[in-house]
Amino acid sequence: MTTVEAPRSLDFIREIVEDDLRAGKHERVVTRFPPEPNGYLHIGHAKSICLNFGIAGEYRGKCNLRFDDTNPTKEEAEYAHAIERDVRWLGFEWDGEPRHASDYFEQLYGYAEHLVREGKAYVDSLSAEDMRQYRGTLTEAGKDSPYRNRSVEENLDLFRRMRAGEFEDGAHVLRAKIDMSSPNVNMRDPVLYRIRHETHHRTGDQWCIYPMYDMAHPPSDAIEHVTHSLCTLEFEDHRPLYDWLIENLPVPSRPRQIEFARLNLNYTVMSKRKLLRLVEERHVSGWDDPRMPTLAAMRRRGYTPAAIRNFCDRVGVARRENVIDVALLEFSVREDLNLTARRVMGVLRPLRVVIENYPDGQTEEFETPNNPEDPSAGTRRVPFSRVLYIERDDFMEDPPKKFFRFAPGREVRLRSAYFVTCTDVVKDADGEIVELRAAYDPATRGGDSPDGRRPKATLHWVSAEHAIDCEVRLYDRLFRSENPEESGDFIADINPDSLEVVTHARLEPSVRGAAPLTTYQFERLGYFCVDPDSTPERLVFNRTATLKDTWAKVSSKQ
Ligand code: ATP
Ligand code: MG
Repeated sequence: MTTVEAPRSLDFIREIVEDDLRAGKHERVVTRFPPEPNGYLHIGHAKSICLNFGIAGEYRGKCNLRFDDTNPTKEEAEYAHAIERDVRWLGFEWDGEPRHASDYFEQLYGYAEHLVREGKAYVDSLSAEDMRQYRGTLTEAGKDSPYRNRSVEENLDLFRRMRAGEFEDGAHVLRAKIDMSSPNVNMRDPVLYRIRHETHHRTGDQWCIYPMYDMAHPPSDAIEHVTHSLCTLEFEDHRPLYDWLIENLPVPSRPRQIEFARLNLNYTVMSKRKLLRLVEERHVSGWDDPRMPTLAAMRRRGYTPAAIRNFCDRVGVARRENVIDVALLEFSVREDLNLTARRVMGVLRPLRVVIENYPDGQTEEFETPNNPEDPSAGTRRVPFSRVLYIERDDFMEDPPKKFFRFAPGREVRLRSAYFVTCTDVVKDADGEIVELRAAYDPATRGGDSPDGRRPKATLHWVSAEHAIDCEVRLYDRLFRSENPEESGDFIADINPDSLEVVTHARLEPSVRGAAPLTTYQFERLGYFCVDPDSTPERLVFNRTATLKDTWAKVSSKQ
């Protein structure tokens, strides 16, 4: 890569990496991203992805994608595929093929036998309940299991028979022999292997014993020559066990675990278990429902990989837990789309305007820039005719003082077209406004007046005859409170108004045929993205983001 990046201060992990490289501890840095394929990736995972792949990229190292598939009941291939797609979508590529903890099952088993032979692991036959009792508490030491002093031969024999399928689930476990009175409960003879007669999605029925995460992760890192094994803070107390295993196993390298704070966002939940519940109980339409915090949902909503990477950069990497305001994510999305999204005009809640002095049957086209931020985006032609639609909200029959938009007798500018003055208001039998009458000033063609008149408002509009009718889905936060988990029942905190469907929005014809995931700025309204639910007959849009942060001032929300 030859891109020149602005100098920035290093986070504590990059400092460690640089020090290690400078000291010649490693020839090159190797990291890994280790998702469990039991759900879709969410924005928290994006932080870990940007960190692991980011460091590998910056220091000319490599980053592996390794599925942590030690748990045979939950894994599903669907999740694994979704994870690969999401990592690539974010803009990263792993080294070689994706790896799996299950690729190392045979090696891990060999390492476990090694510990048994060294007298550092034993087969325990306590019931799960007894094991809990013997473990002690945070304030009280544990007790040795009566099986702790089995001979090496007996342990080896039992462990091999565990593997051979001679015992039922739960009959025995393999435990590390460390210290039952350690102040760190993770060091009180942690379980390394358990019996589970389950089919694994990759290894099938080859195994009926499976390594625990704590047993699988350190040697897997070592086998892959990972130099820095980055994980979230809840693994801090597991680090002594990580180091113990690396110390006591004949592994080919010595990785180092470093913990960082996980990303927490307000107004959402991030645990996969909770996200799965939202999906299974149909509170959302799926893992990619645009209100979800998953990467699949964000892609569908129109968030860009660059925006998410910038967000992760802004959040930074530290050791202190905190909660990030989702507004920062939305800011990053707007910032990126402002540079890249084509502008179009569209009306969400159409109000007909008939320009009475404009010739019936006449159409003219106005040349308009696609993106004022980017001249290379070119221009397009927007048709204008006698009957238009404007936004219903842009008109008030009896406007208060601070309302400067359309009103009876008032002149406004129609973006890139003409000045128009409202001459009449047409209502139906119920008194609802159904149409406005207006007069245009032909001298203001293109949106400027030769006599220097300057209307206070510029409105967006579409030509009724040329407009296309579409569905637009407007999203709000999925939860009402900043911390939906606080109440204990996050389901009860779901915002009932988080989705509003506008069934007959009108858009300028240039969007016809737009491919799914194309993002536009609908002028004055926000960023919108073509949803994959669109058909050739009918486009469906998702609102990606409003133009401004409407949550900063809830009272001004319409
Ligand atoms: P959950 O608890 O929701 O199941 P997890 O942490 O078990 O999530 P994994 O698939 O095991 O999910 O995570 C893969 C990697 O992503 C791990 O290294 C994990 O530490 C990291 N990760 C998960 N959630 C976050 C988060 N919110 N912020 C930063 N990193 C995260
Ligand atoms: Mg996990």
